[in-house]
Amino acid sequence: MKFEFTRHAILRMSERGIGVDEVVYAVPIEQRLFREEDSAMKCVICKERVYRQGLATVVFTKGEAAVIIKAVPAQVCGQCGEYTLDAETTRSVLAMVDEAFAKGTEVEIRRFAA
Ligand SMILES: [Zn+2]
Repeated sequence: MKFEFTRHAILRMSERGIGVDEVVYAVPIEQRLFREEDSAMKCVICKERVYRQGLATVVFTKGEAAVIIKAVPAQVCGQCGEYTLDAETTRSVLAMVDEAFAKGTEVEIRRFAA
């Protein structure tokens, strides 16, 4: 089962403290099967390009605090820079950002290490 999380989904999950497993559980079976077959996914923003393997910079904000995670392995749109992350990467990124916000950081820039 392969899941890709959009930038929008990842930011909302972080804000609301929702984990990867909760989302996977909530998506109906038919939709999961459909997604799996839809291998060449078009960009959700510009609808023009198909995502390619690349690196993304993921920016989270909470009040006035910001956490920036660089060099995150992602599927990136060559036209607008929109990206999706797979489930494992999303899990790691959410853990990093939770940890950074939990210690009361104002601005933190990190490099993703798989
Ligand atoms: Zn795009």
